[in-house]
Amino acid sequence: MSKNNDNQNLAVIDFIKSIYSKDKFIPLHEPRFKGNEKKYLRECIDTTFVSSVGKFVDQFEEKIAKYTGAKYAVATTNGTSSLHVSLILAGVEKNNEVITQPLNFIATCNAISYCSAKPIFIDVDKDTMGLSPSKLKSFLEKNTLIKNKKCINKKTKRVIKACVPTHSYGHPCRIDEIKKVCDEYCIFLIEDAAESVGSFYKKKHTGTYGQIGAMSFNGNKIITAGGGGCIITNNKVLAKKAKHLTTTAKVPHKWNFNHDMIGYNYRMPNINAALLLAQLEKLNDFIDNKRNLAKRYEAFFKNADYEFFKEPKNSKSNYWLNSIILKNKHQKDKFLEQTNSRGVMTRPIWTLMNDLPMFKDAECHNLNNSKWLDERVVNIPSSTTL
Ligand SMILES: *Cc1c(COP(=O)(O)O)cnc(C)c1O
Repeated sequence: MSKNNDNQNLAVIDFIKSIYSKDKFIPLHEPRFKGNEKKYLRECIDTTFVSSVGKFVDQFEEKIAKYTGAKYAVATTNGTSSLHVSLILAGVEKNNEVITQPLNFIATCNAISYCSAKPIFIDVDKDTMGLSPSKLKSFLEKNTLIKNKKCINKKTKRVIKACVPTHSYGHPCRIDEIKKVCDEYCIFLIEDAAESVGSFYKKKHTGTYGQIGAMSFNGNKIITAGGGGCIITNNKVLAKKAKHLTTTAKVPHKWNFNHDMIGYNYRMPNINAALLLAQLEKLNDFIDNKRNLAKRYEAFFKNADYEFFKEPKNSKSNYWLNSIILKNKHQKDKFLEQTNSRGVMTRPIWTLMNDLPMFKDAECHNLNNSKWLDERVVNIPSSTTL
């Protein structure tokens, strides 16, 4: 059906307002607190355990490990600190290179930069919005050689230490294929699973394919700690190191302050873990609700000119943020303008990392799909419905 664009945009706005049964401002994503949040928070305050000591951190770590099927989980202050520590655990050092996708939230590239390493940008697949394993492989085949189990970039002579793909907007990328390529080229795989808590690929939770998965529990994510993050891994040594590094590298002792390396104060406070534990208890409800919302969007957009982004094959997505694909940049800009000026919050996909001033000189390889998506993708309101 081909309607005039203005009418079409107004129909989308009406539909979104009807979903949320309100005429006031509709945010892109807002948290819901319907469970034990107040109870657990009150317990923190009543017992005074609001900070670095308390039972909620341990309880959360145990439960998220169980939920994801990872052997170990280490809670942190946010997703960015999880990524930072993951890169340190991967051995990323000054002047190493780290492969990632240009279509991404800034946190991944920030974390790479904290290690004084350089990002290399490889394209995404159109149907996942996540790193493309075939493009990764063709880049590595042409541009690298393996020496002493290290992957060397022939052009820069630098070591490519790690690869950080993202499960964009909660949709799993082809992570099993990416893992295979990384193994073949001796590259440490860290999954940016910040947005994909509750998303599964081939029945395995995202973040459990790589050596490490990093999650975020920021206020806009599917479950929130206010601010928080988590590292998941099946490797005991990495888990122990992660705990050590995120807790100021303190050597356990009844009273002495001994630290055996430069550590970080990246531990999640107990009060954040209390909120998060209550949220985790609701995660499956949130996912059911969001998958149902996605179905309604999908049905609506079948009769519209805009394409609704569906979960990739072989995956069960948490549909954290719903996306639509417009026909071109002009249509996208018009849609953003009309929705936002009428109280329906929508956002374009992230500016490509290689278009930001800090990364404009980074190595890039054939970013056609990223550019295509960058011109067309818009996120639409995705909070759970009441
Ligand atoms: C939110 C997010 C992060 C960072 O998480 P914070 O908790 O905000 O530091 C990292 N990567 C992606 C893809 C994200 O969406």
